Amino acid sequence: MDYFAGIDIGSTAVKIVVIDEDRQVIGNKTAATGALVYKNAQTAFMNLLGEIGLERKHISYLTTTGYGRKLFPDADETISEITANAVGAREVGKPFGTIRTIINIGGQDSKGISLDENGNVTNFAMNDRCAAGTGRFLDMAARNLEIEVSDLGPFHFKAQGTPAAVNATCAVFAESEIIGLLGNGHEREEIVQGIHFSIAKRTIRLVKRVGIEELIYFDGGPALNTGLVAALEDELGRRLVIPPLPQITTAYGAAIIGLESHGFEKQERAEVGEAVVVFSGHGCQGCSCG
Ligand code: ADP
Repeated sequence: MDYFAGIDIGSTAVKIVVIDEDRQVIGNKTAATGALVYKNAQTAFMNLLGEIGLERKHISYLTTTGYGRKLFPDADETISEITANAVGAREVGKPFGTIRTIINIGGQDSKGISLDENGNVTNFAMNDRCAAGTGRFLDMAARNLEIEVSDLGPFHFKAQGTPAAVNATCAVFAESEIIGLLGNGHEREEIVQGIHFSIAKRTIRLVKRVGIEELIYFDGGPALNTGLVAALEDELGRRLVIPPLPQITTAYGAAIIGLESHGFEKQERAEVGEAVVVFSGHGCQGCSCG
């Protein structure tokens, strides 16, 4: 049996997926990227292999993706996260139909990706310059509200009043806005809802640049946040396809690409590199990030 590993080295978290020849996930792991990117990724990889009873020699092909993909010298191939995300979404989304739009929110960026009927990337928009609307913004908000980031979802659904108006379009100013809202007696639950609606509106503006088509797939770590999912669905007026493990889709896609590169079940796939960025982040201009 051949095994294939995909390692998505994100700005915040390293995600690792090992699959077999049948595309079945044998194991997965998430670890903090930290400052010692390669060391942390390598340690997490070896730990995962130990947990699933494999050794490095059993991995026939190792594909890395994500912002730190080039920092992992043992990789057989590096692939852009746009391509890996698209391949992962195509595979994981199959039971729901053909995924045509991906919304991905990561630790420090957010993206909208358009796919054609065959799952190939036709267009994408990315905000990687402004923390507002990213996982970092949610992490900061949770810290200020003295809750865990995993509590944001449950807090959203416990809100009794109307969502607090969170207008800050910049993470730096949002911090003081949240503190101000607390000082004015707003419940944390209402503030959490307000944050989710603010991120949802911002994300939809970004994704509209590439066009929003059915089916819409939402992944990345913040897709674990059921409150953010609800806010996005409310704002879109449509249901989203959320994979069971939304943080690891891109790593899974990288593993599939490795399997295909190795000669198993090769499928049509257009590689997308950085040069194809259609809408890059617009740069932080203080509080005027749109
Ligand atoms: P990247 O690939 O850029 O490192 P990820 O897709 O791994 O980013 O997402 C990281 C973000 O996911 C974190 O900043 C955090 O906000 C969010 N996140 C991680 N775990 C959870 C969770 N259990 N519930 C809600 N949000 C989460």
